[in-house]
Amino acid sequence: MLDDWLDLVLGGACVGCARPGRLLCPACREELGRSVRSVRPDPCPAGLAPAFAAAEYADPVRRMILLHKERQVFALAGPLGEALAGPVLAGMRPGGRTVLVPVPSRAAVVRARGHDPTARLTRAAAAVLRSVGADVVVSSLLRQRDVVADQAGLGAAERAQNLTDRMGVRTGRLRRLARAGVPLTVVVCDDVLTTGATARESQRALEAVGLPVASICCVAATRRRVALPK
Ligand SMILES: [Zn+2]
Repeated sequence: MLDDWLDLVLGGACVGCARPGRLLCPACREELGRSVRSVRPDPCPAGLAPAFAAAEYADPVRRMILLHKERQVFALAGPLGEALAGPVLAGMRPGGRTVLVPVPSRAAVVRARGHDPTARLTRAAAAVLRSVGADVVVSSLLRQRDVVADQAGLGAAERAQNLTDRMGVRTGRLRRLARAGVPLTVVVCDDVLTTGATARESQRALEAVGLPVASICCVAATRRRVALPK
């Protein structure tokens, strides 16, 4: 199905609704960031920081995320990053500097894809936030060890087990951030929130080096994780 949509993208149609014209029509672009919401995986990993998403993980957002991630349709990084900026704004703490930390992919996966989609979206979100005056920086502080088995097909408990202590903090980058001498809080950024296991492990690694994690922010959250409206 992605191939069909890639044809549409390359053929000059909206990736959201297939309407001929630009890559993302104004209606689909608006849909992308319309409803920032607080989300919770179910079951939720113990101690998970507050989580926010811009949309439900369903088409057309799902298709956009996949085309960006798997097919290097980088023109979608702008709109997706803009969508991610909404949850980050909701999940930031006032004062000090906010460090956006993309959830890392394994080095082997980044090599295979030829890019790091989450880092790209996080940089795009940071640019939007800086343009409205927020003190936001991006730092790829985390690395994921290559021994982690593929997450696909694993249940929530297996994922959590698989991931425990799998993330490490790049201490050189941490030292550079600390040198600025301003209070730092972290927002963990990802494209999709599913079980929350990867986000929780990212949070654990950051908290282990004394960095407070304000929130977990994603472009989209899978349907059963989406909180009902209050
Ligand atoms: Zn459209």
